Amino acid sequence: MVPLHRDAALKGFLWKLGIYLLFVAVVTTVSSQERRRENALRTYVDPVTGVQILSHLDPDMFPASWDDPSEPTVAEEPEAKLIAGGVRGVLLALHKYPTSLLRANLKRVYLVQNLLVDGVETGGVNAPELKTIYVDLDNVTRLDEPVWAEETIHHEFAHLLTDIHSNDFSEETWAKLNKPGFKYGDGGTEAIRTGHDGGDITDEYLQKGFAEEYGMSDIQEDFATLTERIFVGDVLVRKAAARYPIVGRKVDRIISFYETLNPAMTKDYFRHLPTVTVNSDNQPPSESGGTHTTVDAKHKVSAH
Ligand SMILES: [Zn+2]
Repeated sequence: MVPLHRDAALKGFLWKLGIYLLFVAVVTTVSSQERRRENALRTYVDPVTGVQILSHLDPDMFPASWDDPSEPTVAEEPEAKLIAGGVRGVLLALHKYPTSLLRANLKRVYLVQNLLVDGVETGGVNAPELKTIYVDLDNVTRLDEPVWAEETIHHEFAHLLTDIHSNDFSEETWAKLNKPGFKYGDGGTEAIRTGHDGGDITDEYLQKGFAEEYGMSDIQEDFATLTERIFVGDVLVRKAAARYPIVGRKVDRIISFYETLNPAMTKDYFRHLPTVTVNSDNQPPSESGGTHTTVDAKHKVSAH
């Protein structure tokens, strides 16, 4: 017979072991649930639009025609903490379009970090041949990720659409909306390289007929920067459309382009988009300021 005090010590030991094993089991279950949730979010398919939102890398994620070892286009898988905000922003953007427009023109969105396009740090890019948009998430603070992801989707989707439906978008007609004698720069990538990619939305640019400095780099960036602000519901740009004739004419052109692609996208459709005043520091909306900036840092370019 085991002496009484040894029996009590054994019981105590078994209790402690049981509690420890239970603790290990709970921790393992919680972390594997988190991993499952994270994995599920890394390959998310929007049930409303069918668009895939992917936060992992694939070997053939960029078009083969972009291969250029001297000016590489590469990206990294985003850190886990960036993904939820990114997915939220993408969904916010997608749900502002008719489902049929998305199903016909956009298959997938890659959320990435450290995106290089032609060797240049870039905030987003698109591949019309793959109906794919790439959003770089690591250039903003965590609070700004949904805002940044939403803006980038509108911007890159605008590029995708003018590329896929180039017959419905006349660059010549668009260029004539500017003041006589105005000349665009040498494109988005060059504007980023040379630091002429300002994202501040100020009266100075709006009066000239542009959303921001970056829009002056070429016709496609002009179209995409203004379209992005319209879909975001930017109050400043909306007011400028009523106040400045060039912005007003460009906004009309944008709406008629989208209406050509989808008859539901009338002026009324655009009027009913929710409005916001976007600040890079997530301050509450303010009507008094005449200036604000889109989420700053790296800029978005149109690819190839
Ligand atoms: Zn662009």
